[in-house]
Amino acid sequence: VKLSETVQNCPLCAGARSKPFDRRSFHGQMVSNRICVGCGLVFQSPRMSAAELDAFYEEEYRRLYQGSAGPDGKDLAVQSGRAEALLVFAQEGMKPVSRCLDIGCSAGLLLEAFQKAYGCLALGIEPGQAYREYAREKGFEVYPSLAELRAAVKERFELVSMAHVLEHLPDPVGYLVGLRENLLKPDGRLLVEVPNLYAHPSFELAHLVSYSPHTLGQVLQRAGFEILYFQEHGRPRSELLPLYITVLARPAGAGSPPFQLIPERRVKLKRQIGMLRSTLITRLYPKRAWGPVSQVVS
Ligand SMILES: [Zn+2]
Repeated sequence: VKLSETVQNCPLCAGARSKPFDRRSFHGQMVSNRICVGCGLVFQSPRMSAAELDAFYEEEYRRLYQGSAGPDGKDLAVQSGRAEALLVFAQEGMKPVSRCLDIGCSAGLLLEAFQKAYGCLALGIEPGQAYREYAREKGFEVYPSLAELRAAVKERFELVSMAHVLEHLPDPVGYLVGLRENLLKPDGRLLVEVPNLYAHPSFELAHLVSYSPHTLGQVLQRAGFEILYFQEHGRPRSELLPLYITVLARPAGAGSPPFQLIPERRVKLKRQIGMLRSTLITRLYPKRAWGPVSQVVS
């Protein structure tokens, strides 16, 4: 995999100054992350260019991560548990949903959960061909990209979900603004889940940004969202480690104050403490730190 793009400006604050944060090998590929001096966002640089990313997600991503291009039992089990947890979260303060969209819908398990819970029309976007076909075979309308969805679908959604997607996007703020302006109803809900920089190993080849609870909130607010619910948790993988951050947000109202950047400090120290805590908890309570993922038949 080629990493031919050096990131010039921070994806959150657009600042040009950054310094090295982490460097490690991921499946034999050297991955470097930097931290923005202005706001504290941690992002990968150099990284894959837009064209390299497109080619990567069409096929290579799944092969590299799980050794097969299509869904396998373990992956489906994780997705099923995740869909259950996300559904519970989405139902906090949720109004009736007639149309929902899951971006990065993978095998379609969250689509299934939403459809069952709301009786709604559930659409998906999934760049991975094998996963897209899998979800389509279950009867879901799934598009390979946002551009293709927008060309075919004109109606807006009451609920848009992005589980483990935002960390893969080169321009998260721009993407979220587009989503708010073009896809979401003005009183719609956005459900986002990402790995937590302060508990999850995080620095994978495909993770272009590694979010802390603070920087995730900042990215959403910068994109014009207001946060309704916020949680750090480990479901479905861990009972004890706060591996993930899940947020339910809505477009900020017309009267909301303009975005004001609040930089995060001591990010490196928080990361070190968080990972030390993860290591200790894993040693002390291995089973509760990383619970077994039961196989599902789908
Ligand atoms: Zn920044």
